[in-house]
Amino acid sequence: MTADRSFDQELRFDGQVAVVTGAGNGLGRAYAMALAARGAAVVVNDLGGDISGAGGSARPAQTVAAEITAAGGQATPNFDDVTAPGGGERIVATAIETFGRIDVLVNNAGILDTSEFVTCPDETIQRTVATHLLGTMAVTRAALPPMLDQKHGRIVCTSSGAVFGSREGVAYQAAKSGLIAFTRAVAQIGAEHGVASNAVLPTAFTRMTSSIPPGAFRDFMESRFTPERVAAAVLLLAHASFPHSGECFLVGGGRMARLVLGVTEGYIADDPTPEEFRGHLDTIMSTGTLLTPANRVEEFESYLPRLGFGASLDQLVAPADAPEAGTAVRNGD
Ligand code: NAD
Repeated sequence: MTADRSFDQELRFDGQVAVVTGAGNGLGRAYAMALAARGAAVVVNDLGGDISGAGGSARPAQTVAAEITAAGGQATPNFDDVTAPGGGERIVATAIETFGRIDVLVNNAGILDTSEFVTCPDETIQRTVATHLLGTMAVTRAALPPMLDQKHGRIVCTSSGAVFGSREGVAYQAAKSGLIAFTRAVAQIGAEHGVASNAVLPTAFTRMTSSIPPGAFRDFMESRFTPERVAAAVLLLAHASFPHSGECFLVGGGRMARLVLGVTEGYIADDPTPEEFRGHLDTIMSTGTLLTPANRVEEFESYLPRLGFGASLDQLVAPADAPEAGTAVRNGD
C-alpha cells in the first residue's frame, strides 16, 4: 500500500485574489495572513467595531493589511460594513479595482450574541441576523457574477457549532443555521460553473470567546484553539483543488470533521394516523440508515420508489426521449 503523499504538496494561491470579511481580528486575520503567505492578494475587510457590532474604526483592517505587506505579501484594507446598503458590492469592487479579479471569498465577519431570547431588544436580533446572514448574502451576491463568468470561485461561509442548540444567542444560532442552507444553495448555483461553496463551523480563542474565566481551561483554549488551526481548514476549502461543494466542517483545536445534514430512512404508511406513526417512532428516529442528500431533489427522490413511483424526477422535466434516469436511492456521498 502506498502512503498518501498529498499532504506534501503545498496548496498555493499565487495569482489569486481573496476577499476576507471581518479580517481585522481573530479568525479573519488568521485567514488573511495565511492566504497572503501562500501567494494570494487579499482584501482585508473590517468595519472595526466591538464584539457586539457597535462602533467602527479603520485601524484593524489597516493593521492587518500592513502586516501582510510588511511580510512581503499583497493586501489592501477595506472598511465597509457588510450589512450597509451597497456594502457587498463595494467590498467586491475593491478586489476587482485593486487586483483585477476575485477568486476566493471568505464570509467571516460576525458579532457576538449571547442574549436571552425573550427579553433581548429587537435591535439585537436584527443586527445579529443582518450581520451573519444578510451580510454574507450581500457580499456573496456581489462576488458570484464574476466568479460564474470566469468559471472559477471558492466561497467559504462561517456558521457555528451553536447550530446544535443553546439557550442563549438564539438569533445567532438561527442566522448561523440559515448559513448552512445558504452554503448549500450557492453550491447548487455554482455547480456547473466551477464555483464551490462550503462552510466552516469554527472554534477558536479570539476576543469573541475570551470571556472564559482565567484558569486551566482558558489556558488550554488559548494555546490549543488558535485561529491558525482553523485557518488550515479554511485554506483547504478555499483552494481550487478542494473537490467538495455544499459541505460544512466543524474545525477547531486541530480537528476537522464533516457536518452531515442527514435524514433517517423513516417509516412509510399508506393512510397514516397519529397512532401508527407513534407506533413506529423507533424506526422514524433510528439513525441506523442515514441518507445525506446533496440537494432537495435527491432528498425527495430518495423515498419515491418506496411510495411506488419508480422514476427519477428528472423524467418529469426531461424530454420524452431522454435516457432513462436511475431509480436507485442515492445518499449524496
Ligand atoms: P472577532 O470579533 O475576533 O472578529 C470578527 C470581526 O468581524 C471583527 O474584526 C469585526 O470588526 C468584524 N465585523 C463585525 N461586523 C462586521 C460588519 N458588519 N462588517 C464588516 N466587518 C464586521 O471574532 P472571531 O471569533 O474571529 O469570529 C469570526 C467569525 O467566526 C464570526 O462569524 C463568528 O460568529 C464565527 N465563529 C467564531 C467562533 C469562535 O470560537 N471564535 C465560533 C463559532 C463561530
